[in-house]
Amino acid sequence: MSHHVLRSPEIMGLVFKMSSMLTAVAFSMADASAREVFMDFMGNRVRIALCRFIPAGTISSFFSLLHSTKGGVSGSVATFLYCCNVHVCALDLPSDLNILVPNGRFRRWESWLLSRGATRVRSGQPMARFAGCVATFARFTMSNEGGSMATITVSESTTDSLLHPLFYSELTSQMTVLTATRLVSYYPELTGNLKAVVGWMRQRNALSHRVFKLHGIVIYPSTRTLGVPCGEACPFMWRRTTDRGIDAIAWGGVGGNLAQEKDYLAKCFVRWRLGRTCSNPCCVNWFAGFRA
Ligand SMILES: [Zn+2]
Repeated sequence: MSHHVLRSPEIMGLVFKMSSMLTAVAFSMADASAREVFMDFMGNRVRIALCRFIPAGTISSFFSLLHSTKGGVSGSVATFLYCCNVHVCALDLPSDLNILVPNGRFRRWESWLLSRGATRVRSGQPMARFAGCVATFARFTMSNEGGSMATITVSESTTDSLLHPLFYSELTSQMTVLTATRLVSYYPELTGNLKAVVGWMRQRNALSHRVFKLHGIVIYPSTRTLGVPCGEACPFMWRRTTDRGIDAIAWGGVGGNLAQEKDYLAKCFVRWRLGRTCSNPCCVNWFAGFRA
């Protein structure tokens, strides 16, 4: 009986909603029906989140373009999608949608947005911290599903990888990216457990801090107060996008038919770290940090 109840799509959906992403993915591996419910769950979350920025009728076209330009959605929207236990329909979700694209793909996004009624409100230089990794930056406003105006930013990388700018984000939780087929977290243990550590960029964005805190994400100004060994959070440690410990979830795409599709992020090689020292007394790199 209990087994039967657990297999009902409603109960499985509820379990996903209350779980961390790591638990939800493990649960979805149980069998084909759990996998199917998980895909539905993810597809719905993505649709709900995107409808805050664009009309529902344009979502398929949005993801087709995202796929063909090898781009990704980053920032708070991707973060919240990764945190299953955060309600994506809540009113306090981020107010802008951040799109990252490889070098040479900006114009296609500009045309897509303008042809769908978006207005360009700002263009030119990105914020100082993105100066070396973002070639073109533009902000648009567009009518969302409810008819109110939403903000969409497009950042074009200086390289053929969309990932370079991602690691200049302020918080580890923002180092999460949604593509047409994958939701990838480069800090899955931290993000899945609703924790974020401030990285290189200490230019505090009060709004994103407020939004994250509202949804129960605990922000650590450094690893000093983590209270446990750093693990993936260690700023002293170099990491690579091809390393183990990066969580790439095949969420199936908006039509649920892209689960088998290859992931272009897997080919984007970036090596990064978040600092030169580690201030966490529980970490093996603590002394190494002081020598560096
Ligand atoms: Zn450390």
